[in-house]
Amino acid sequence: MSTSPLFVSHKEMDYAGKHIVRGEVFTRAHLRNDKALLDLGYVDVFEGEPSHHCAQCGRSFASEAHYAPHVRGCGKTQERQEAERARHDQAQQDNAARDLMRRVLAEASSGAEPRVTPEEAATVTAYLERHTEPVAEAVGA
Ligand SMILES: [Zn+2]
Repeated sequence: MSTSPLFVSHKEMDYAGKHIVRGEVFTRAHLRNDKALLDLGYVDVFEGEPSHHCAQCGRSFASEAHYAPHVRGCGKTQERQEAERARHDQAQQDNAARDLMRRVLAEASSGAEPRVTPEEAATVTAYLERHTEPVAEAVGA
C-alpha cells in the first residue's frame, strides 16, 4: 500500500471527528475502517500535494472541479452564520432592553423613583434607536 499520508474523498462524510466534503484532500488517521473506505471507493490514496486550498475553512482540494463549487458555498455558509449570530446577539440585547423597560415602568407605576444605571440607560437608548414602536408596545404594557 502507498505510504502517502493523504486521502482524497469521493463522498461527503465524517471521518475522525471531522466533516469531509467531496474532493477534499485530508490526512488519514489510520482508522480501522480506512481499508473499507478504500474498498468501497469512498476515498483514494492521494499522492503529492493538493493544488487548491479554501481560504475560508482551510480545506484542501485535489481539483478545481471540487474546489470551485466548494468556495462559492463555503463563503455563503460563513456569511449566513455571521448574519445569524448578529441577529441572535441583537435579539438578546433587545430582550435585555425590554426587561429593563418593564422593570422601570413597574417601579414608576408603583410610585418609586426608578433606579437606572448609566449602562442600563445606554441599553434602552440603543434599543429605542433600533426600534420605532412606543415603549409600552415594546414591553406589552
Ligand atoms: Zn471552505
